[in-house]
Amino acid sequence: MSIELEKYKGQSSRYVCPKCGRSRCFTRYIDTETNQYIDNSVGICNHRNSCGYHLPPKAFFDMNPEKIRAEYKANNFFEKGWFAR
Ligand SMILES: [Zn+2]
Repeated sequence: MSIELEKYKGQSSRYVCPKCGRSRCFTRYIDTETNQYIDNSVGICNHRNSCGYHLPPKAFFDMNPEKIRAEYKANNFFEKGWFAR
């Protein structure tokens, strides 16, 4: 169980970036146990230089602690460096 960037599975696994608005350039973080995205805003844009958008799960959970699943706490995700880069 982990949270990691969604693996590339064709264009359907890449989304519109919430910052620059370009299509098929945004990779979302996904919970590998539930196969649910953390949030539509949690991910990274391919356009590192011209856009640079990156919202990692930890930053999102700091802002939205009610979205933290009990399993994350039970597995000490916060102590373990609990998502892949
Ligand atoms: Zn972007």
